[in-house]
Amino acid sequence: MDLHLDSVCVQGGYTPGNGEPRQIPIIQSTTFKYATSEDMGKLFDLEASGYFYTRLQNPTNDAVAAKICALEGGTAAMLTSSGQAANFYAVFNIAGCGDHVVASSTIYGGTYNLFAVTMKRMGIEFTFVNPDASEEELDAAFRPNTKALFGETIANPALTVLDIEKFARVAHRHGVPLIVDNTFATPVNCRPFEWGADIVTHSTTKYMDGHGAGVGGCIVDSGKFDWTKYADKFPGLCTPDDSYHGVVYTERFGLEGAYITKATAQLMRDFGSIQSPQNAFLLNLGLESLHVRMQRHCENAQAVAEYLQGHDKIAWVEYCGLPGNKYYELAQKYMPSGSCGVVSFGVKGGRKAAENFMKHLKMAAIETHVADARTCCLHPASATHRQMNDEELRAAGVGPDLVRLSCGIEDKRDLIADLEQALAQI
Ligand SMILES: *Cc1c(COP(=O)(O)O)cnc(C)c1O
Repeated sequence: MDLHLDSVCVQGGYTPGNGEPRQIPIIQSTTFKYATSEDMGKLFDLEASGYFYTRLQNPTNDAVAAKICALEGGTAAMLTSSGQAANFYAVFNIAGCGDHVVASSTIYGGTYNLFAVTMKRMGIEFTFVNPDASEEELDAAFRPNTKALFGETIANPALTVLDIEKFARVAHRHGVPLIVDNTFATPVNCRPFEWGADIVTHSTTKYMDGHGAGVGGCIVDSGKFDWTKYADKFPGLCTPDDSYHGVVYTERFGLEGAYITKATAQLMRDFGSIQSPQNAFLLNLGLESLHVRMQRHCENAQAVAEYLQGHDKIAWVEYCGLPGNKYYELAQKYMPSGSCGVVSFGVKGGRKAAENFMKHLKMAAIETHVADARTCCLHPASATHRQMNDEELRAAGVGPDLVRLSCGIEDKRDLIADLEQALAQI
């Protein structure tokens, strides 16, 4: 039965049989038993599918990954221990030493650092491009050894909205997949595959969990990118893997399974950034109400953005739901039923004023977190982005005065009252 998205949030990924648990069971087991060594050998050779060690696969994790896969409209998905691990695997699965990747410059600070510093040390070069650049300007960033294009649906915390169709066109013109981090929009508000993206990643730590309970990540493959058409670019998917007796992922698992199977069989095996089954269970509890919560997050953020925009102590407000916002039209196109609960703004008086204002907030807690049921806020220039110099901050769309407010699902009247009393004190 083809379910609507809201029903998939509640019931997707797991269908119990007669007399089986209604809720996804937590399979808290590192290992799985087999009758013969031959049975187990087939699993190690990827000739049969089944569980043998939780570092590679676990039934709880697979059920939750299957739900997210269905929500995004993909063909295969895997959970990871964090959003950082998801983005690292998503790129490293197809790019190695000597390769090059093009990424939007307004991405999350942690991802920027992963790409620009840590993966650079592994021999992968990144070129960061303004997501609003013309197709010609984006084209110019590509090289013969470019393996992927990367962007965020709604960037954290810059809140730029990605023109997914434009990015997909450019990526495909250069024979590489478009990877989209869809953390802020969630599949409830945007499904990047419908606009041409090939791979989607998530920090499930954010709205998907939604209760600040567990750090996690997810990678979903659309199954649409034809690796075999560019076999020389993607030898890891199209030529034999010596660590599995010469399996060729695209031949054995098809376009729908090759990418995720390779990421599981090689990267999970070797790096081991698994999500614990317990955390996957908590994540699923969050997913069951994702569609209901996203509506309220967006409603609250819209009300807060409108309130702040009319306040004389506020220098500027960035929220793509505000008519007149630079990204309003793009947001209407890609996210007609709402974007996210995060609003960025500047308090008049710059960095000092921002810090002073935040000190007076009572409901909105200062946290290195977003997308929680509870409202929270952060001054990125002194926290998540403090590694960046002023020039890098500007390129990332994060000014020194920027306050990132993540509207929770409380009553919006209380959120506005809290902002009002804090603004009155500065
Ligand atoms: C938080 C975040 C990440 C990193 O996720 P973790 O779960 O904290 O590792 C990646 N991308 C985006 C857009 C994020 O907001």
